[in-house]
Amino acid sequence: MTTPRARRALDGLGVFSPPKPASVDALGLAANENPFPPLPGVAERAAAALGRSNRYPDANAMALRESLGVHLGIQSLAVERIRVGAGSGALLSSILQAYVEAGDEVVFAWRSFEGYPIATALAGGTVVSVPLRRNGRHDLDAMADALTDRTKVVLVCTPNNPTGPVVTAAELEDFLDRVPTRVLVVLDEAYVEFVRDPSAARGLEAMAGRPNVVVLRTFSKAYGLAGLRIGYAIAPEEVADAIATTTQPFAVSDVAQAAALASLQARDELLGRVASVVAEREAMRDSLLEQGWPIPEAQGNFLWLPLGRGSADFATACAPVMVRAFAGEGVRVTVGDPGVNARVLDAVDRWSRPRR
Ligand SMILES: *Cc1c(COP(=O)(O)O)cnc(C)c1O
Repeated sequence: MTTPRARRALDGLGVFSPPKPASVDALGLAANENPFPPLPGVAERAAAALGRSNRYPDANAMALRESLGVHLGIQSLAVERIRVGAGSGALLSSILQAYVEAGDEVVFAWRSFEGYPIATALAGGTVVSVPLRRNGRHDLDAMADALTDRTKVVLVCTPNNPTGPVVTAAELEDFLDRVPTRVLVVLDEAYVEFVRDPSAARGLEAMAGRPNVVVLRTFSKAYGLAGLRIGYAIAPEEVADAIATTTQPFAVSDVAQAAALASLQARDELLGRVASVVAEREAMRDSLLEQGWPIPEAQGNFLWLPLGRGSADFATACAPVMVRAFAGEGVRVTVGDPGVNARVLDAVDRWSRPRR
């Protein structure tokens, strides 16, 4: 019997099956989640919004966008240029849906965020992936060389998930100068709050005066709201309008909006928590470097262990702690509770011993 055939774009994408959750939340170091619960006051404000769930949410997320405008501190950043979506992943899909015609090319570094090839394929685009440099950094020269007449969008992930390094401000500036303004450049800053490298690119500065640059941010990582699905884009007004057109109406609940708004008001606590994750990240990296592991610069809330063919076996050796293996390449370890991180460091120690 013939059955309805899904679009060919779906061929080979499979069903999204994230690694199975750890038996205890704290043991989950596989998804770059925040080890801390939502910030103080957030659960209460979200619960109050839950009581209004018989109503549709504010589709325009007006209060949150206004608050973001103030929070981002850019003079004259009109709310029209800020758009909220059900996670920055959903915003990326909206952007690709808005800009990619069948067969248009979407350029990004690889390995990078796993959502990129999927969102590109579903939008009908053609993936053009450009290998990272050996130290896990973007090769922006090679990416500029990869631009063609068919290139429609370039995705730049800084810091890069899963390898960790940032793109520098100087590199990004040179790159943007080489990209024709008909090509949209998406700067994915999912981990921007954890960046400490003073030479790092700052998306909001890079986009100033450029009509073709969009910045994506999320509440999933530093703010600890991964479960509520909320992120935002800062874009030139025309791009922001296009995002609004392709975004599912009412996709972001009032619960998520209230939680995000309350999170912005807990700035001191946020900075404190981020600082503790950064300190733990640096301590872990130092200890691994001391053991001789070539860990790339880590500017997010995760570390990259370039274990090559041993990656899958190492992940198994970490059980019951869950880490993320990319078979044949490496393992990404989220910086979580110090006690759990220590168990991963122990696993690395055991792993290296037989080869000494
Ligand atoms: C986690 C992540 C996102 C998306 O997170 P959302 O939960 O959809 O907001 C986007 N980009 C990168 C690089 C990420 O690591």
